[in-house]
Amino acid sequence: RGKKAFVAGVADDNGFGWAISKALSEAGAEVILGTWVPALNIFETSYRRGKFDESRKLSDGSLMEFAKIYPMDAVFDTPDDVPEDIATNKRYAGNEKWTVSEVAKCVEADFGKIDIVVHSLANGPEVAKPLLETSRKGYLAAVSASSYSMVSMVQHFAPLMNEGGAVISLTYIASEAVIPGYGGGMSSAKAALESDTRVLAYEAGRKHGIRVNTISAGPLGSRAAKAIGFIDKMINYSLSNAPLAEKPLGAIEIGNTAAFLCSPLASAITGQTIYVDNGLSVMGSAT
Ligand code: NAD
Repeated sequence: RGKKAFVAGVADDNGFGWAISKALSEAGAEVILGTWVPALNIFETSYRRGKFDESRKLSDGSLMEFAKIYPMDAVFDTPDDVPEDIATNKRYAGNEKWTVSEVAKCVEADFGKIDIVVHSLANGPEVAKPLLETSRKGYLAAVSASSYSMVSMVQHFAPLMNEGGAVISLTYIASEAVIPGYGGGMSSAKAALESDTRVLAYEAGRKHGIRVNTISAGPLGSRAAKAIGFIDKMINYSLSNAPLAEKPLGAIEIGNTAAFLCSPLASAITGQTIYVDNGLSVMGSAT
């Protein structure tokens, strides 16, 4: 039986969510997407116009297909949580059932039980500000979009996952060591995400028999990373200082690790933060 995967956080072909979808497709899984509502229209239009066809190519020559693309906003759990300004926002108009609980219900109605859940999303409106200048609102928004969103996804999707299933998210070393420039409470959000990975591995492991892990990825010039403004510096730092120096980090390397972690090959791995960063995290100084 082919596995079914729900991947949240794909809105172009540059990020980790896309690469994970690709690796899962290569491994024979059926991939269902949850795409941020304000980004959905342009993603679907570009997809239809063939803009991603080159990056959709799988090793057997066929093109990666998504079983379905749902609108989703991981900052809201139920319709009652949606404030008026979002409900009436024109970027949300024409879409429905995009809160986490509603998406989970739609996925269950359309696909039944699933095996894999991928959380590849983050947002921190004040990411460019140092923590010392971050507002309470900005900090809580970062944690809501980047950490609680994972808790919410496990709450709502775990009940529709087959035993032996797996959840994966993406984290960053700024959770445990200071990375100047990764502000706005995003470092705090990633620390929460890693801690929640351990607690959810325990709770959802006991309750649903599923595994929960997070991948601490090295720097990638994704759309989200470019918005932070320091990604080129981080990529160059890694190229100079990682054990695997001068080796660019490919998103597909994170994708392949995700496919491994979601497979029976990783059946005893849960609650872990797995580094996929050309080894940069083991270095204690620049070279
Ligand atoms: P990306 O831009 O491809 O992915 C981020 C996605 O999050 C986008 O598709 C965006 O639409 C979506 N999103 C934002 N807010 C959302 C919301 N409220 N609801 C639903 N979706 C929402 O960028 P990426 O760098 O591939 O990011 C994926 C994950 O990888 C994030 O958790 C990020 O923190 C993590 N990560 C990135 C790097 C890096 O250097 N790029 C390094 C380590 C970890």
